Amino acid sequence: MYDLIVIGGGPAGLTATVYAIRKRLNVLLVSRDLGGKTNYRLALPWIDDYQVIRGLEVVNKFKSELEYLKFARLLETVERVERRPEGFAVLTREGKELLTKTVIIATGTRQKFLSVPGEKEFMMRGLCYSAISYAPLFIDRKTAVVGDGELALRSTAELATVAKHVHLIGVSKDTLSLPLGKKLKAASNVTILQDYRVVEVQGNSYAERLMVKAPDGHQAEIAADAMFIEMGLVPTSQMVQDLVELDEKGHIKIDCLSRTSVQGIFAAGDVTDIYAEQVLVAVGEGAKAALSAYDYLLLML
Ligand SMILES: Cc1cc2nc3c(=O)[nH]c(=O)nc-3n(C[C@H](O)[C@H](O)[C@H](O)COP(=O)(O)OP(=O)(O)OC[C@H]3O[C@@H](n4cnc5c(N)ncnc54)[C@H](O)[C@@H]3O)c2cc1C
Repeated sequence: MYDLIVIGGGPAGLTATVYAIRKRLNVLLVSRDLGGKTNYRLALPWIDDYQVIRGLEVVNKFKSELEYLKFARLLETVERVERRPEGFAVLTREGKELLTKTVIIATGTRQKFLSVPGEKEFMMRGLCYSAISYAPLFIDRKTAVVGDGELALRSTAELATVAKHVHLIGVSKDTLSLPLGKKLKAASNVTILQDYRVVEVQGNSYAERLMVKAPDGHQAEIAADAMFIEMGLVPTSQMVQDLVELDEKGHIKIDCLSRTSVQGIFAAGDVTDIYAEQVLVAVGEGAKAALSAYDYLLLML
């Protein structure tokens, strides 16, 4: 029986695990990979790596610590978390049933893909999924955002503060009636292609243009220095969807002590309903969840 099982090896889960090891808890990290979304890095021809603020140094330190501490990690996929009289069982796709007194869910989100030719080829080479992380790098550049919803509006608005031009592609009339949508309609450096569809991403070493189709069927080419697919982020919370309370988008609801609606289950990072999907926020949330789980365990140890 473990004291704590952390599910998810991104910034939140890695930090939580390292904190728990330092508190000398009997802890296991179960994850598909180590590093999570920090393994994605946007490459651009005119950007040197050092100009990007990533918080990666902290995450990489924790990652290499866990690469070394083999006993504290298991690279498997978790299917479900179930209650047991003595705590919880973590069930993996590979058939393991791991018993634990407490759990931290740190499984992040997954981005929605365009699923068009060229997307995979140019992923992270001029085509990316987090304008909010990279917008300040686009001073006087031409950019494009694809998506319909608050994330697409926010990404366009942030890019428009520095970029020469932003094309917002695929947005609907309803989304444009939101306050930020109205503001973007009036912006001189934003072109809105309402209800257009992207059919292909093209380029050479990096993505250079999007082939789009208008509602009336005519095709056009949008050239950009970088393009952002902002169609939404889906929280990876299905393993506890029948156990803990989720918000309407599927984020796990937590309180200020990282506690979910079920005693003994904690959550951290992008999978939760906290503000801001960023590496350093996830690192802090992971530390907080580990300390909170430790406090809870002090009553039991
Ligand atoms: C393309 C891109 C670029 C970004 N760039 C930046 C940046 O420059 N700076 C910045 O601050 N933020 C950036 N972000 C945001 C940042 O990466 C996230 O906010 C951060 O990684 C969230 O950490 P997390 O630990 O909550 O989740 P994640 O990093 O998503 O990690 C989730 C972990 O859970 C594991 N997992 C998921 N489901 C299961 C399962 N069923 N079983 C086992 N394991 C599972 C995954 O394998 C992964 O290890 C970027 C995001 C994207 C998509």
